[in-house]
Amino acid sequence: MLYIDPVACILCQACVPVCPVQAIYDEADLPPEWAHWVGLNAERAPTLPVIEEKQTPLKAGA
Ligand code: SF4
Repeated sequence: MLYIDPVACILCQACVPVCPVQAIYDEADLPPEWAHWVGLNAERAPTLPVIEEKQTPLKAGA
């Protein structure tokens, strides 16, 4: 799992179409049932390491 830091995000939307599980939305398009994730991303992203290189995907269901 990863989190997007809303302070660092420049809202380019490049991540939206490439997310393999369609888990990323532009905030303007965010379904109401996922609204609580906005605050969680803001809270957790600054506390975690920054991913700067492509990572090996986890196995499905991992
Ligand atoms: S790719 Fe996604 S997370 Fe990164 S700056 Fe663009 S919109 Fe923000």
